[in-house]
Amino acid sequence: MKIGAPKEIEAGEARVAMTPDSARALQKLGYDCVIEAGAGAQAGFSDAAYEEAGVEIAKTGAALWKAADIVAKVRPPTTAETKKLREGQLLISFFYPGQNEKGMEAARKQKANVIAMDMVPRISRAQKMDALSSMANIAGYRAVIEAGNNFGRFFTGQITAAGKVPPAKVLVVGAGVAGLAAIGTSTSLGAITYAFDVRPEVAEQVESMGAEFVFLDFEEEQQDGAATGGYAAVSSPEFAAAQLAKFRELAPDIDIVITTALIPGRDAPELWTEDMVAAMKPGSVIVDLAAERGGNCKLTVKDEKIVTDNGVTIIGYTDFPSRMAAQSSTLYATNIRHMMADLTPEKDGIVHHDMEDDVIRGATAVFAEEITFPPPPPKVA
Ligand code: NAD
Repeated sequence: MKIGAPKEIEAGEARVAMTPDSARALQKLGYDCVIEAGAGAQAGFSDAAYEEAGVEIAKTGAALWKAADIVAKVRPPTTAETKKLREGQLLISFFYPGQNEKGMEAARKQKANVIAMDMVPRISRAQKMDALSSMANIAGYRAVIEAGNNFGRFFTGQITAAGKVPPAKVLVVGAGVAGLAAIGTSTSLGAITYAFDVRPEVAEQVESMGAEFVFLDFEEEQQDGAATGGYAAVSSPEFAAAQLAKFRELAPDIDIVITTALIPGRDAPELWTEDMVAAMKPGSVIVDLAAERGGNCKLTVKDEKIVTDNGVTIIGYTDFPSRMAAQSSTLYATNIRHMMADLTPEKDGIVHHDMEDDVIRGATAVFAEEITFPPPPPKVA
């Protein structure tokens, strides 16, 4: 069978779902590979590099969609792309089936199958396919770099002939995958780093990375904000109030805030209020990684960078992984090829779509003319 990656058509999307290296690995699984001309250009992969890796070049998107039995993409397909799906074709991409009923219905009608990379169960065996984590890791790293780029001072403290420079103080709110990456980047740049999460079990991880966990003055049993599967639950009003009080106390002293707090299936909790922004020093920076879901900061504008009257920069970009397209494409293409490896146990270049397999079942949104989302809970942890 042939697997192909089209050029992403979403404005500003620089990633690509197949790299020359991933194509080599896919060929070892028995597949032929095809890529749309120029699809890897913005991520630093030339057509020549693909050709050298044995990949066929399709001149147009239409030719690519026609040639490929399996289409691997980054972004969910647009309406126009969905129309190109055909009987028996397999689409593998971010798909967000919970918000994409129309897309699922269209794929079902066109008798195509869909694997949603955002639905890969977060169990140990599937970590190599966990594209949400690979992209969150990049977003966390890039958030700190972006903050540094907009911050007029060093991260690390220095004693120079021209004077003593204090270290920057960074607060990371939410210590999931993106938050931990931000903490690691911040401490490695030498900033004094604080982190907070409603799940107190991450405190040890935070501390092992050289950051300080911010504890609230709260009874321990009431502090547990963990829900099932390692995700957060909505905080009690008392806990939320204690959290805001703590942030209010920290705001005047913090130079950079990176917010990453999310609760599955809900809008991002509002944690950094207008008065906290007003209390920050001029030149401070907030990077709101929750901007896509409404933002953790009250003043965040999605996809924009704004500067408040008191000189605080607030960044609400939602395309951090795409801003590091070479890295994110490499990791995403690797996640895809691991998914393909699981779909190809015989290494015979033929997809065996095993709906008895927890991981494949969990990620499959449309199969055999049926919408298969939501999946049953995974059997193994
Ligand atoms: P996420 O993106 O859903 O949320 C980010 C963080 O925000 C979480 O740590 C959450 O606790 C925190 N948060 C929510 N509300 C908050 C609030 N009011 N204040 C402060 N923080 C708040 O999380 P994620 O990065 O997707 O990771 C969720 C969990 O899943 C983590 O425990 C992670 O280690 C785990 N995980 C497991 C696997 C695996 O086993 N394969 C893979 C990825 C993640």
